Amino acid sequence: MPYPWQYDDWTRIQALREHWPHALLLYGQAGIGKVDFACELAQSLLCEQPRDDARACGQCAACTWFLQRNHPDFRLVCPEAVAAEATLLQANSDIGKNANGERTGDDDGASAGGKKSKAPSKEIRIEQVRALLDFCSIGSHRGGRRVVVLFPAEALNVAAANALLKTLEEPPSGVVFLLVSANVERLLPTIVSRCRQWPLAMPDAASASDWLRSQSIDDPAGVLAEAGGAPLAALAVARDEHAPLKRFTLEQLAAGPACDPFACGEALQKVPVPSVLGWLQRWLYDVLAMQTSGEPRYFPAHRNALKHVAQGATPLQVAQCLKRITQQRAVEQHPLNGRLVFEELFIHYRSMFGSNP
Ligand SMILES: [Zn+2]
Repeated sequence: MPYPWQYDDWTRIQALREHWPHALLLYGQAGIGKVDFACELAQSLLCEQPRDDARACGQCAACTWFLQRNHPDFRLVCPEAVAAEATLLQANSDIGKNANGERTGDDDGASAGGKKSKAPSKEIRIEQVRALLDFCSIGSHRGGRRVVVLFPAEALNVAAANALLKTLEEPPSGVVFLLVSANVERLLPTIVSRCRQWPLAMPDAASASDWLRSQSIDDPAGVLAEAGGAPLAALAVARDEHAPLKRFTLEQLAAGPACDPFACGEALQKVPVPSVLGWLQRWLYDVLAMQTSGEPRYFPAHRNALKHVAQGATPLQVAQCLKRITQQRAVEQHPLNGRLVFEELFIHYRSMFGSNP
């Protein structure tokens, strides 16, 4: 089933079935279920007894293989790091429901093994695309279409993108590419121009909230705001195991000049650096938003604290602090001493209030 907010896209996209494009680029904000939509579409394209509404039957041989993640005419390609993360998510919840499918694609990438000492790659590498081209060059096992879901397309490195480009220019008959991206502007324009582009809709607040309630999130408004309105991202926020430390962090940030950088370093040292940087970044965005428009975007529940903090620093000081966080985000995947990074950033944050006693 597509998510409730995707029914309209699902219905409209069926109009393409008469002349299905060989490459479709599904794009939209992160955390709205684009990959799930692509996999749903892939299953329906492979299904041998599709229903009247074009959805997969869920029971034919093709669907059975697909759901067991071993349909011979399907490939799912993503960076190793995404596959690893999705597997972790799946261990805690069901939102990574395509996770093992992703791994199937990766295993086929002929490159996943043998590098255990290295951090998983965040790129889709040329070895993965080459394996994909092998898959495209042999015939269909079931005599129907072959389908490739590739995400996030912006993770293709230059060599991989160029290798894929040749296939997109001269597509093998019967092969359908479904590329998924949350950052179309980071794709090679030549890739984009070879694809039929399809923007996936953002859910309205009501359907996003209803869906979160159906996932046992009692008070969805706060997490939905923090996730910029994207329901799957909001669910991840709600289920974040570090939520108590996020509360602690927000309390410290709310204390403004009285925050304790060393207590923060101590308390947060085991939290992944990108998580803490995300909290800091959203908090500072909201401080700036209070100064400019008077309305926080990510932490509306902390409106009063944000207002107080916003009065203690100038927009320029806040912007400089935000810039420092952004710089740190550029190297957040490097093996860093979290404690030292956090101490330094919170010292920077505290000094933001220095000349405004
Ligand atoms: Zn079926």
